[in-house]
Amino acid sequence: MGGNPFETSLKTLHEAAEIGHINPEVVRLLEQPKRQFEFTIPVRMDDGHLEVFQAFRVHYCDALGQVKNGVRVVPNMDMDTAKALGFWMTIKHAVGGIPAGGGKGGIKADPSKLSRREYEALIRGFIRNLPMKGAWVDVPGADIGTHGRTQAWMLDELESIQGFHSPAAINDKPVEANGTELSREATGHGAFYVTREVLKDLGWEGSKTFALQGFGNVGRVASELLQQAGHKLVAVSDIFGGIANPDGIDVFELGKYADSHGGSVKGFPGCKEITTPEVLETECDFLLPAAVQSVIHEGNADRIKAKLIMECANGPVTPEGEKILYAKGVTIIPDVLTNCGSAIVCSFERTQGLTDQYWDRETVRAKLEERIVKSYHEVAMVAKELNINYRDAAWVGALKKIEKAMVLRGWVWE
Ligand code: NAD
Repeated sequence: MGGNPFETSLKTLHEAAEIGHINPEVVRLLEQPKRQFEFTIPVRMDDGHLEVFQAFRVHYCDALGQVKNGVRVVPNMDMDTAKALGFWMTIKHAVGGIPAGGGKGGIKADPSKLSRREYEALIRGFIRNLPMKGAWVDVPGADIGTHGRTQAWMLDELESIQGFHSPAAINDKPVEANGTELSREATGHGAFYVTREVLKDLGWEGSKTFALQGFGNVGRVASELLQQAGHKLVAVSDIFGGIANPDGIDVFELGKYADSHGGSVKGFPGCKEITTPEVLETECDFLLPAAVQSVIHEGNADRIKAKLIMECANGPVTPEGEKILYAKGVTIIPDVLTNCGSAIVCSFERTQGLTDQYWDRETVRAKLEERIVKSYHEVAMVAKELNINYRDAAWVGALKKIEKAMVLRGWVWE
């Protein structure tokens, strides 16, 4: 997201609302969060001084259910970021058929500068000071700067406050702390299932070539599944650099190599070295940007050779880049659909906590596949019916679901 991320979200809202003829009262309600909290977390640091951290939490919209999603701990965290991400989560949940609203928040802090004790005190302080919490209100998950361990601290703090167990109130917990199977791999799996369906719909049969930016959690899992399905990775990059081989790169061997080379793909034998941005311009059938936002823009869009882009990262294609790509006939499957796998599995995590029934990995995988494939077909149908691109279709479909809930609840009049 370039510029102010919240303003960018509002622009997308207004464009999609116009295309979908969304009730103006719905748009009016979605122009700001339903609730937003800014609070402080005092932490006694190891050297004895008191540090006061700023924290944020947004309940953007809860028309479809209690809000849920990530807590980001980064030095530049602010309310606009929380609002923009909370809004995105509202749309993503609606796209993914998840009965939840969008929430997001975070703490302005650099985890790498905190001792383990300080970090734990900060995370526990977030839960203690969070004004509204619990499985039926707001379910915090992990994001940048938070992970399974922090989520287990959150759970422990919440349960200590409440005096009873509450596994459905915190997401992204390790399996051993009442978490769900497939939590880490959910987004990569989801991206694979959506890609598989898109390829079928495009009539692209047989083995295809693809390039990948970002060999992290999402990119690695998705590319492993794509290779197993017979497709060929021809270029991949990470923050350190990239590699290419038109004959194909074995994803599993590459994974082993990255594990023993500081997580990087750079230097993998038998490949030509390329730069990180060059991977995007590789000759291939489809492209998976799975690293960071705004990597495809007006400066490089005309050099993209792939005919299909699966947005695994959030916002990898800028609106200016998108226009150029559409003019070239490129199909773009938007982030809110391609990467909603972890949001879906988080919702399963809450369901398992509520019912005290913990599913095995295959059950979670099969339910994720069923849900995300259905979401893709819903988006594809709107795109076909209204003759619009997939991003607009995803947003229009999501806004229509939210509109319906708001009308039924009596928040707006039809
Ligand atoms: P990750 O940290 O595991 O991996 C990120 C990868 O991108 C690494 O290989 C890293 O080296 C590379 N990278 C980082 N900065 C880069 C840059 N400037 N240029 C090129 N490569 C760069 O992250 P992840 O969990 O795989 O997430 C990838 C993207 O997907 C992020 O944008 C994230 O916000 C988004 N996303 C992730 C999830 C999830 O469940 N993990 C869910 C939704 C969206």
